[in-house]
Amino acid sequence: MIEYENLYGLNKPFINDYRDAFERVLNSGWFILGDQVKEFENAFAHYCGSNFCIGVANGLDALILALRSFSFKEGSEVIVPANTYIATILSILNCNLKPVLVEPDPSTYNIDPWRIEEAITKKTVAIMVVHLYGKCCAMDEINKLATKFNLRLIEDCAQAHGAKFKGKKAGTFGDFGAFSFYPTKNLGALGDGGCVTTDNEGLKKKISLLRNYGSEKKYYNELIGVNSRLDELQAAFLSIKLRTLEDINTHKQNLARIYNQELKQDFIKPAMNKDYYDVYHIYNIRHPRRDNLKEYLLRHGVKTEVHYPVPPHQQIAMKEVFDKKSYPISEEIHSTTLSLPISFMHSENDVLRVVEVMNKF
Ligand SMILES: *Cc1c(COP(=O)(O)O)cnc(C)c1O
Repeated sequence: MIEYENLYGLNKPFINDYRDAFERVLNSGWFILGDQVKEFENAFAHYCGSNFCIGVANGLDALILALRSFSFKEGSEVIVPANTYIATILSILNCNLKPVLVEPDPSTYNIDPWRIEEAITKKTVAIMVVHLYGKCCAMDEINKLATKFNLRLIEDCAQAHGAKFKGKKAGTFGDFGAFSFYPTKNLGALGDGGCVTTDNEGLKKKISLLRNYGSEKKYYNELIGVNSRLDELQAAFLSIKLRTLEDINTHKQNLARIYNQELKQDFIKPAMNKDYYDVYHIYNIRHPRRDNLKEYLLRHGVKTEVHYPVPPHQQIAMKEVFDKKSYPISEEIHSTTLSLPISFMHSENDVLRVVEVMNKF
């Protein structure tokens, strides 16, 4: 059986280092906002090419705190791709703002920059882009729009650690990059974690306060904050894995290249383009008989996933939010997409085996 993913296997190469880190943190007697978090924040900011990184509890909180730091008026509109994981949209709703969905470019699955302008109204305050599956959005056009209409720009980088557009890394284009270190992400912790990147010192200060009860000095509160901190243990684990992130990304790129070259043309494969350095958090293909294909693959020993089966606007939870609006491009993607095994623990032979089975479908 070729697994889709195995979190033990993914972390196996790091086990001895994790054990040392655990001992170190335990012996230090310091578990919240200490040297481990600072060290990781510095290392990740440096990795991204960002001035600052602020560790938070998870990726959803990273998005929420980024939005909250601007104190937008209630009901203001935030432009967001219709084709994304639900967390992106939840962050907007949790800040009492209004998500305005924009369809993706069907060749990249990312927000279509040419459709953004028509969604901008007097109430629009920000664009929240998502570098889905590990491919950056078309940031030239999007940056131009943000500047032209004086909008804040937040990047959901939860699937894009180390992804680049024209040599520049995800998380450095907008006011904020928001990252998740959920265990399955390219840079995953042994539990929840997240961070925000920014080049702006004032915004950095604000996020640092917001994540910690709005307080810099213990028991003195300047802002109405929350408790959303990255903890010392997770930070220590993340510092270890960060040193291998480039290898993880290039390994996945190599596997993606094999899929792209070897899979037959019946499958719609991800676009590759010299301006985009993709990190393949997910490698997806599309096929009109996706469900049959998934079942067929399972019968032949290949596990796959669907990211995602139901688009956000069709979720039960969103009934009142997007009442009966339709987003046909997103719906089409959700009903035809299939994610193939691609992880640090998969070998070229695993991928060639998947290809062999796929090509007989
Ligand atoms: C994983 C993910 C998130 C949320 O991250 P958590 O750490 O699970 O809160 C947000 N957006 C996207 C696109 C994601 O894939």
